[in-house]
Amino acid sequence: MAPSFNSSHSSNNSRQSPASQSQTTFSSTSSDVASIHTFGPREKSPCKVLIVGAGVGGLMLALCLERAGIDYIILERTQQLPVPKSTIQLGPNTLRAIEQLGLLDEVMQVAKPVSTLTLMKHNMTVTGRMDCLFTKERYGHYSCIVQRSEFLRILISHLPQGKVLWGKYVLEIVNGDAGVQVRCSNGYIEEADIIIGADGAYSAVRQNIYRTMKTKNLLPKSDEEPLKHTLNAIIGVTQPLDRSRFPAAYEQFSEITVVVGKDPLYSLWLSPIVNNRVIWFVSGELLKPAEGENTNFKQSEFGPEAVDAFPPFSGQGAEQAIMDAIYLANHLYRLDENPVHEDYVKIFESYQRRRSPLVKSADQMTHSMTHLMNSQGFSADVKRKLMFALPDWVKNVGVDKMQVRPLLDYLAPVDDKGKKSVISSNAM
Ligand SMILES: Cc1cc2nc3c(=O)[nH]c(=O)nc-3n(C[C@H](O)[C@H](O)[C@H](O)COP(=O)(O)OP(=O)(O)OC[C@H]3O[C@@H](n4cnc5c(N)ncnc54)[C@H](O)[C@@H]3O)c2cc1C
Repeated sequence: MAPSFNSSHSSNNSRQSPASQSQTTFSSTSSDVASIHTFGPREKSPCKVLIVGAGVGGLMLALCLERAGIDYIILERTQQLPVPKSTIQLGPNTLRAIEQLGLLDEVMQVAKPVSTLTLMKHNMTVTGRMDCLFTKERYGHYSCIVQRSEFLRILISHLPQGKVLWGKYVLEIVNGDAGVQVRCSNGYIEEADIIIGADGAYSAVRQNIYRTMKTKNLLPKSDEEPLKHTLNAIIGVTQPLDRSRFPAAYEQFSEITVVVGKDPLYSLWLSPIVNNRVIWFVSGELLKPAEGENTNFKQSEFGPEAVDAFPPFSGQGAEQAIMDAIYLANHLYRLDENPVHEDYVKIFESYQRRRSPLVKSADQMTHSMTHLMNSQGFSADVKRKLMFALPDWVKNVGVDKMQVRPLLDYLAPVDDKGKKSVISSNAM
């Protein structure tokens, strides 16, 4: 998520939080900004947050702010929720906070827990099988495949009416002394104290920030490069399948099957999801890397979504977007009543310090996994075989490192049901 702010005043948009009656003081170590704070929504919102994008990250942030008593509005370019064209993977890192928000039962209605990942060669011989059920005991929850649009619908159903403004395509952002102003393609203007870009891979918010940074010579060289995609993928969801022909679609658990193709190399991913359907991806590395800079793709209906910092099937994109929202909400909750510019700087610096190491390790892990699953040749075959043959304790080391399981500081905590506690450097 890309934050932008420029504020030397506090918001006039303060609102009374719905449950401001019962606030309890408790302590927490989740940010560098403050260590003692109140429990429950704030009585008066310290600022107004403008969220661009009603995707996984934007809606999750909205719900976290709603419960924190912080004023917000979401601008979304589409006219309505997307049709159910894809899934997201949610695991212990996010399901604990989802449970804390009281949404776990609803989310599990549209989720299927994953039992195994089976890797096969093009001739359908099994290279290896990986158990995924262990996450429940070790980290507290199964890893689940969730229908994306249904998940978004659940989040929206917990927001008050009118908080998502549909059909608002944000084009321009202007920072001023009195906050930030955005202009949409239809001429609509909205103002707030801070803006959070949750608008996907080709984020308008990020591009606006980069433009400003560039004029001030602050933009790192690496960020001047255009965003490239390195993989192609076609993704689809079947209709409900016939039980006699596809019994796996009716199982309680989803068994993910990956078939690594040959010459030219494409991998086929199949996973049963709820309602007896199966989601499938065909993916492969680009044969001509130059195609990754195709700007038409960027403008297309599917392009902006289909390229992300995390490859779609890595199972990390949505998880990381949700964790961004949790960390950000915890930081915004700590703002002083009448925040000034320096207060915002302080919380965003703290947010970045805490999020960056975790995002970097998730990024490294998913990119090497994706490369391994999509690369060709004898050595890639051997590496895949070796990886699947590793003893559990070795495989677990990598997964343990990514465990955070963050909670919202201002809501009643829920128990960590995982036997393996979060490693201390990851703890919020
Ligand atoms: C086909 C597919 C399959 C995937 N499968 C998985 C998976 O199995 N597991 C997993 O974890 N992740 C998966 N992902 C990735 C995951 O969906 C994303 O990482 C996650 O949705 C990122 O959330 P986000 O909120 O940052 O962005 P998005 O969900 O992309 O939401 C961005 C929102 O911003 C809106 N928007 C964009 N520009 C503007 C603008 N200028 N003005 C207003 N609104 C704007 C968009 O319309 C969209 O609603 C998949 C992605 C795709 C495309």
